[in-house]
Amino acid sequence: MFDWLIVGAGFAGSVLAERLASQRGEKVLVIDRRPHIGGNAFDRYNEHGLLVHQYGPHIFHTNSQRIFDHLSQFTAWRAYEHRVLASVDGMLVPIPINLDTVNRLYGLDLTSEELPAWFAARAEPVEVVKTSEDVVVSVVGRELYEKFFQGYTRKQWGLDPSQLDKSITARVPIRTNRDDRYFTDSHQFMPRDGYTRMFERMLDHPGISVMTNTEYRAIRDFVPHRRVIFTGPIDEYFEYRHGKLPYRSLQFQHETLDTEQALPTGTVNYPQSEDYTRVSEYKHMTGQVHPKTAITYEYPSAEGDPYYPILRPENAVLYKKYEALAQATPDVWFVGRLATYRYYNMDQVTGQALATFERIEAQLPRREDMRPAGDIDRSRLEASAA
Ligand code: FAD
Ligand code: UDP
Repeated sequence: MFDWLIVGAGFAGSVLAERLASQRGEKVLVIDRRPHIGGNAFDRYNEHGLLVHQYGPHIFHTNSQRIFDHLSQFTAWRAYEHRVLASVDGMLVPIPINLDTVNRLYGLDLTSEELPAWFAARAEPVEVVKTSEDVVVSVVGRELYEKFFQGYTRKQWGLDPSQLDKSITARVPIRTNRDDRYFTDSHQFMPRDGYTRMFERMLDHPGISVMTNTEYRAIRDFVPHRRVIFTGPIDEYFEYRHGKLPYRSLQFQHETLDTEQALPTGTVNYPQSEDYTRVSEYKHMTGQVHPKTAITYEYPSAEGDPYYPILRPENAVLYKKYEALAQATPDVWFVGRLATYRYYNMDQVTGQALATFERIEAQLPRREDMRPAGDIDRSRLEASAA
């Protein structure tokens, strides 16, 4: 009998599996329908020996010392600050938009002190900032919005930014200084030996069993377990009872090029042209030295594995219905980006999993606590009967 059946071997499932096994001494079975652990953060060496991220570039960044320290138990790190250029009007300019972006695009020589007024002269007043359009046009005006955000967002989501929650484009800040880093978090690192190695170490515990290529539905009635942690899409768990909850997908086109370096930065974005949104080169992130290089193009699509919750008002209403079902389902805990329909980064999912563990600790007595002194150890009894 397993204490926990954990569905999904990504950040949510793996962080929880390790905590439950190492801190509570519980028996955990982690399953994943994919042929590997790591969820969307899975990386692998391709046929040329280049480390690639199977599901697109994953860069770890966090402001949380606690989350960083937690993951540091399972990996050493390589310092890496991600930079992105956008192909706009025939030039490659920094995104997030910063002082250099504006000066190069418009042939200006503004200073950081002058740029706020330049933006303000173009910004459109928006009474209540609600959408992914509002949050950009209210700061930099329509022209920069159209050049950098509208086309990219329409491609990425199949929707206009005016149809999407403000939090989506708000992920990408607007700067008046020359900082050209994509993130400004206090901790910006890549796992030194890759994500998959980090997950292997996390799951390497005598209390944890792992089965890949395993569908929850196919085994749930045959593997005895007390409780479930579900990290897949929440609407799927409830058999789409209230209708399909939309998730956006991507198709990844991986290529190996016979050159040492293909791109000037880790990623180049295409907000105005091409069917793909961005192309990324892993050697920038991994620091791997190799005569060839591996790149990945991302083509957004409606069909395929669910990767992104689509944050807009009607989907929030639908999610709430599933959340209510989840709350009424005893002994099943819903955790992670797909199960809680949140546009979470890896560190946020780790934080959510650690917070869930604390709730489990508060709500469920540990097994040895449940056993009065002198009581028979049921797990031993079952083992000897088996
Ligand atoms: P997942 O990693 O999706 O894991 C869920 C697992 O559950 C999957 O492996 C799935 O196969 C399995 N599963 C689902 N249903 C079932 C079932 N019924 N039976 C068996 N198994 C099932 N975050 C960052 O911090 N930095 C980045 O740079 C970054 N880049 C990203 C780029 C892309 C293209 C994408 C899509 C995401 C990116 N993210 C990034 C986000 C990051 O991938 C997620 O935050 C994180 O992987 C979510 O972990 P999770 O465990 O919630 O979900
Ligand atoms: N975005 C954009 N242009 C860009 C980069 C991002 O319009 O050059 C918008 C787009 O809607 C995207 C969102 O901002 O989906 C969040 O971007 P981020 O790079 O955080 O996306 P992710 O890495 O999660 O795919």
